[in-house]
Amino acid sequence: MKSAWSEREAQAIVDRYALEGIGPDLALRIYSTRLLGGEPSLVLHGGGNTSIKALTTDLLGEVTEVVCVKASGGDMAFIDETRMPALRLDRLRKLRTLDSLRDEDMTLILRDALIDPMAPSPSVETLLHAFLPHKFVDHTHANAVLSLTDQEDSDLFCADVYGSRMGIVPYIMPGFGLAVRAAGIYELKPKVEGLILQKHGIVTFGGSARESYDRMIEMVTLAEERLAKNRKAVFVPAPIPGPVAPLVDVAPILRGVVSIKDERTEGAWRRPILDFRTSPAILNFVNGTELARYAQAGVVTPDHVIRTKIWPLIVSVPEAGRPVEFKRNALNAASTFVEYYKSYFARHNVRAGGALRMVDPQPRVVLVPGLGLFGLGRTSRDAMIAADLATCAIETITDAEAVGRFASISEAEMFDMEYWPPEQAKLAEARELPLSGQVAVITGAAGAIGVATAKAFMEAGAEVALLDLDKTATEAKARTISPAAFAVRCDVTSAASVRAAFDEVVGAFGGVDIVVSNAGAAWQGRIGEVDEEVLRKSFELNFYGHQRVAQAAVRIMLAQGTGGCLLFNVSKQAVNPGANFGPYGLPKAATLLLVRQYALEYGGDGIRANAVNADRVRSGLLTDDFIKERSTARGVSEKDYMSGNLLGREVTPEDVAQAFVAQALALKTTADVMTVDGGNIAAALR
Ligand SMILES: [Zn+2]
Repeated sequence: MKSAWSEREAQAIVDRYALEGIGPDLALRIYSTRLLGGEPSLVLHGGGNTSIKALTTDLLGEVTEVVCVKASGGDMAFIDETRMPALRLDRLRKLRTLDSLRDEDMTLILRDALIDPMAPSPSVETLLHAFLPHKFVDHTHANAVLSLTDQEDSDLFCADVYGSRMGIVPYIMPGFGLAVRAAGIYELKPKVEGLILQKHGIVTFGGSARESYDRMIEMVTLAEERLAKNRKAVFVPAPIPGPVAPLVDVAPILRGVVSIKDERTEGAWRRPILDFRTSPAILNFVNGTELARYAQAGVVTPDHVIRTKIWPLIVSVPEAGRPVEFKRNALNAASTFVEYYKSYFARHNVRAGGALRMVDPQPRVVLVPGLGLFGLGRTSRDAMIAADLATCAIETITDAEAVGRFASISEAEMFDMEYWPPEQAKLAEARELPLSGQVAVITGAAGAIGVATAKAFMEAGAEVALLDLDKTATEAKARTISPAAFAVRCDVTSAASVRAAFDEVVGAFGGVDIVVSNAGAAWQGRIGEVDEEVLRKSFELNFYGHQRVAQAAVRIMLAQGTGGCLLFNVSKQAVNPGANFGPYGLPKAATLLLVRQYALEYGGDGIRANAVNADRVRSGLLTDDFIKERSTARGVSEKDYMSGNLLGREVTPEDVAQAFVAQALALKTTADVMTVDGGNIAAALR
């Protein structure tokens, strides 16, 4: 592993912090923490932690010796001084004399020792840092070190690679016990440059940020060099029977298979978002004949268990053209997984006196021979984290098997980590929103109503794909909503384009649950004289566009088998024609019937179909120029023109967006038309 330290960058950060009155030690502590955090083979997503011991002035003005430790769950790559809470060292050191310390008490004592009572909670590994005497302490879960210590013969590997340079700490759960054990091993051999935490990670320390960092790089490099020697070929591939089904066919089936009914409301599901990964290394791993052995042997470091669970779900090869068979096999595998998870929980909960509450038993990682892996989560971010950790585990296990035989900690040890309150607390911070776990596709998404709708669905917790004609413009709109909003090019007048767009969405999230079919444009003409071509163009977009989008969505929803929701932007023109708007209103009237047809034919599959009839909304169809022209022609102000309805209120794109969200949430409502027009009796539905 190459050192990323740059004296020029280090000096720049020291100079920058000096302006804020922060000394060079803390500045360099932040610098080297970011370097370690920026290297994915050392730490991922909040893993690892670093510390510095220093003097500070407390709130009463007294100079106090403190240890500043990375905040719990914080990402090392983006650390700053506000995410390095300071704790009174004398208070923490007193704990060394205790025989044991309950987790709840440790959490309270750590908070009580904070210099700033409002600071974020410090890392669950704070005591490990506090009990070691060094000014700088760095801790990572380096893949190479894990590959060497996740072994049946890990002592031999450690002795061979590190001799007496590193203290070797046998596996013990993080927390008070590990901190005491690690400090004890250090004190027996005070010349060591760091500690190997077997089946967990590595600690290095030093008198300066640079010394501790350099030791980390050197010790990891020694592990990498050992892994490069005397490798045996891994893994023997199992035969793949024939062509493998493509990702876009496999993902919706899998997503449906791992979804579970939400017992609180009939018709509701707990669905995961899927993040797909594949590479030659992943395929080599998932195609191995012994996949069930090495993939289910346990986690590569206890830090992963809350994100990946102990084991992945392994399914059969998805053969092209045989979706029914694949679905049946995958359902069996998933139900076996869930049953095993429940029995694992029950078995180990006995040790806790039955006091723990089981988290959902769904898998977090799915391995698909012939295809790759999926990370699963309630949000795309959680799915991405699970996929990253699974990819990291594959690298680590592959290297472990190339030099020996992969071995993890025991099932009981993994359970203790999975249900350790400080670990569960990291997940508990995530807020469950009403549309969490659902994927919403919005067409015509670069327009005013489209953007407002995408934003409203995202705020309700859904993952959002914005579909529109111009990819660049749509991307720009997506960025105004969230970095997680996904932009896709789609021309709803082309069946191939619609199909390709939905494939892209499935590739990104694993499926589709909600569609807001919103793309449309207005053509005008007096109906007795209008050119037939104008009418055809309008039907192509304002009727067939909706039909193509609904058809593409239904295909995916049926493969998932977890219902779904089709929402259509119809128009008041569908029920209350305006003069010269025939070319627009006629296809919209057909679309209103289309909504009912879908509601009728797919209700049995749990797929709902609803519409919004909006009127006089400022948008691409009703431009500012047009509003000016119309209001002048009628001799009223623009404001009076826009709010010329029963309530006297202007209808906004946000009002329309909220109507779509309400329909998506109304699980017992289908074939509904919601009117968002401020009140227009002539357009009221009977
Ligand atoms: Zn750790």
